[in-house]
Amino acid sequence: MKNLRSFFSARETPFYYYDLELLDATLMALSSANRYGYHVHYALKANNNTPILERIKKAGLGVDCVSGNEVKIGLEHGFKSSNIVLAGVGKTDKEIGYAIDQNIFSFNVESIQELEVIDEIAGKKGKKANVSIRINPAIEAGTHHYITTGAKGNKFGISGEQLLESLDLLKSLSNVHFIGLHYHIGSQITDLNRFKNLCERVNHLQKELQAAGFSLPHLNVGGGLGIDYENPQEHPIPDFEAYFRVFHEHLKLLPDQEVHFELGRSIVGQCGTLVTRALYLKESDHSNFLILDAGMTDLMRPALYQASHKIVSLSEAQNTRQYDVVGPICESSDAFGKSITLPETKRGDILMICSAGAYGETMKNSYNARDLAPAYYSE
Ligand SMILES: *Cc1c(COP(=O)(O)O)cnc(C)c1O
Repeated sequence: MKNLRSFFSARETPFYYYDLELLDATLMALSSANRYGYHVHYALKANNNTPILERIKKAGLGVDCVSGNEVKIGLEHGFKSSNIVLAGVGKTDKEIGYAIDQNIFSFNVESIQELEVIDEIAGKKGKKANVSIRINPAIEAGTHHYITTGAKGNKFGISGEQLLESLDLLKSLSNVHFIGLHYHIGSQITDLNRFKNLCERVNHLQKELQAAGFSLPHLNVGGGLGIDYENPQEHPIPDFEAYFRVFHEHLKLLPDQEVHFELGRSIVGQCGTLVTRALYLKESDHSNFLILDAGMTDLMRPALYQASHKIVSLSEAQNTRQYDVVGPICESSDAFGKSITLPETKRGDILMICSAGAYGETMKNSYNARDLAPAYYSE
């Protein structure tokens, strides 16, 4: 911490700081927990900074993309096209054409109409595209409603019933090769029973498809494993052992079936910190505001999904106070937390907003014509 203090003090804030040793340790833990030969694709939308992608690639992971540009970023960083999957409810014709040209491993298809469009585009190119069908299993992920993706009413995927209704269509399309089912029920899931429920849905639908004469060489169960935002120092690395064990124990795999995962947050969430300075302190009748130089343009999660990140002050003051910690942006949702207990803070003190490695920088923007926060790395 001592070295970090001088590193941080010497720099203009706000900025992101990445602990690459923690990222490496997380990747090691992931790989040693994966005793089952599962394929893990890193969800690029969580963080696509080059030093981070380089380490993830070195660890042997593939990538999970949600746009044509993400496929391009993956390829530019040396990920093999045979390790790239592409999801997204609104893939454009251009994105589909590009991904077919690049021979990606599989499209995770989110509607029947999209399936027909992929078939048509692949046909024009004289190619055959691998497709997995994304199923909305109608289960609750027990997380914020903005980050559930597999519940009734979510826009993602199609229902199992709808898939069964369209099996004839699937058999009639000659430019797509149906390789299996895809699921992703949401993000920041900390109750592993949710994944057990997912396994049960998977087993049921796979059995029906198998009975209908389909072969399913692949199964993709998505990502969503949560991290500890409240106590990041105590739990810097998620329990990948317990996570994979749930799938190992509850999935009824078909012979020779290969299983794929798509993890984002659990890999990069804890290694990133948003470093900021106290700009102003302002007391009113009701509130005691601590105004930071970092805001929702640097880290959007609190404004977007009422997420909370642990805030650690580098102040050495002995006494503590409660603050309503806010950013400088002209929006009332630009706030990091109410009644947060911190050491007595004065203008210029440095604070760390923890667990900002996932969905931090990839969502940063320049609203209010702000500068984009730069990134620094521990190496
Ligand atoms: C975002 C996303 C993921 C990764 O989710 P995490 O919660 O970061 O693990 C996986 N699959 C798909 C399809 C996604 O959109």
